[in-house]
Amino acid sequence: MKLVDTHCHLHFDAFDADREEVIQRSLDAGVTHLINVGTDHGTNEKAYSLCSKHSFMRHTAGLHPHSAHLENADDEMDRFIARTKPVAVGEIGLDYFKSEADSEIQKKVFRQMLELAQKFDLPVIVHSRNAFDDTYEILNSVGAHGRAPVRGVMHCFSYDEEAMKKLLDIGFLVSFTGIVTYKNASVLAAAKKAPLGHFMLETDAPYLAPQGFRGKRNEPAYLAESARFLAQTRGEDLEKLAQVTSETASRFFKIAL
Ligand SMILES: [Zn+2]
Ligand SMILES: [Zn+2]
Repeated sequence: MKLVDTHCHLHFDAFDADREEVIQRSLDAGVTHLINVGTDHGTNEKAYSLCSKHSFMRHTAGLHPHSAHLENADDEMDRFIARTKPVAVGEIGLDYFKSEADSEIQKKVFRQMLELAQKFDLPVIVHSRNAFDDTYEILNSVGAHGRAPVRGVMHCFSYDEEAMKKLLDIGFLVSFTGIVTYKNASVLAAAKKAPLGHFMLETDAPYLAPQGFRGKRNEPAYLAESARFLAQTRGEDLEKLAQVTSETASRFFKIAL
């Protein structure tokens, strides 16, 4: 079985003490490709520097809604993308659950980042929490004729089946973390119905460890747990789930597996 962890943060301080062991455990568990997602200028640089040492890891350029009020969004991000060639712009988005940033600032930065992705023809990784309506409206308002302007994924999907359908209708993907194993009814219902080829898997490590490891630091090796759980819940062959989600990630990020 080969899996792609499409969203983790191995460049975060949480892995400073044992990063290489974590990477080895990931490879041993069949998680052979990792996307390290940046959240602000500092972590974008760290993700880039880590990924330049490992060919099976790629980095992104993000400005998380939690940091939307702290950074000068435009110019520095533009230069970073041109210089380092990330595989996506993200994570970007809206978080009305616990962000320090005012919602108007979040929306402004989110729009700027979508335009930047459009300029560089990159897909986006969208973080959206307690903010589905505004997220969806902005995704649509940036594009013409009701189509999303860029290819994108809503990461750590935490809404319901109806929201998922709306995203799939504008060509978006969704991705599921270990929270599917917490058996939250609406997320699980969406995960059961998500069509193969339109969703990916991720850990969001160091956050959101799956049920058996809940409360501990998460790591990419645990992606195998979520994959196993999902395959069982969906009544699907694990190998097939792994293969199709990996192929979806390969197409989305334009990475060879
Ligand atoms: Zn996120
Ligand atoms: Zn994240």
